[in-house]
Amino acid sequence: MKYYNSSTLIYLNGKFVKAAEAKTDLYGQSLHYGLAAFEGIRAYKTHNATRVFKIKEHYKRLQRSCELLNIPFPWDINELIKQTYRLLELNNLKDAYIRPLVYSEPNMSLVAPQAVSIMICAWEWASYLGDKQLKVCVSPFQRPNPKSTFVEAKISGHYVNSILASTDAKQKGFDEALLLDMDENVAEAPGANIFIEKNGKLYTPSLGNILAGITRATVIELCHVLDIEVIEKPISVAELKSADGAFFCGTAAEIVGIHTIDDVVYRQRWSDSIGATMQRAYKNLVLEKVNYEVII
Ligand code: PMP
Repeated sequence: MKYYNSSTLIYLNGKFVKAAEAKTDLYGQSLHYGLAAFEGIRAYKTHNATRVFKIKEHYKRLQRSCELLNIPFPWDINELIKQTYRLLELNNLKDAYIRPLVYSEPNMSLVAPQAVSIMICAWEWASYLGDKQLKVCVSPFQRPNPKSTFVEAKISGHYVNSILASTDAKQKGFDEALLLDMDENVAEAPGANIFIEKNGKLYTPSLGNILAGITRATVIELCHVLDIEVIEKPISVAELKSADGAFFCGTAAEIVGIHTIDDVVYRQRWSDSIGATMQRAYKNLVLEKVNYEVII
């Protein structure tokens, strides 16, 4: 996949520069130790205009991730929002995935850096996990222990764990992995949260051992609007496997159904599931079809 061409612009520390000509220092903690914070945001071409979904929430999470990493965040969020829209305009992008990254200036020590850079890039990206229901396996890799890092922060280094789990799942012939937490309860996918459906209700792992996904929060909001009961609680593997259905949700993946977990097939038809209702409601919401509760 090509993320940029010779005319693509990125935002780098206050300026727009060509992606092909932008440089980074090789002596930074981000490259060597994974100390960086990032976001994944989506812009949608709505009937109004191109709109970046929950952009403020994403930049606030980026700021919070930096705070937890003890690295500076000397930028104004409203200014970053303005520059993100400008980036889309300059690259003529309407539907796009946007990736801000805060990374360290040269520093080979193991102490948080005083100087950081920010870059924002964007490209067209279809739903990350596709639109077919997924064959998922329970990963042999656990999510990072919250006592060894800040799991609520979106830190680059955490994604080594994600890459290990996804690669392992693909090598075994699955589409994606599902990771457990240190208590062997269901946690999340390498880049998405999970909901399961049982007897007309949705369940999702409580916060604490997972990334607090902005899509997860949106699904919970949609449940309230649509009068669907949603419960946040620890979920065991036995509960996962005896559910009626399940789906992943995330900015890149949007909402995607799960067909099988290991050898267990969810018998409920996707089209009859709450997951399918959520998928339609989410699409309507991001596309600003205002009466989404009526439309679905
Ligand atoms: N969990 C992990 C590990 C992720 O990387 C992501 C993607 N950011 C999510 C959950 C979903 O988060 P969001 O809905 O904010 O994209």
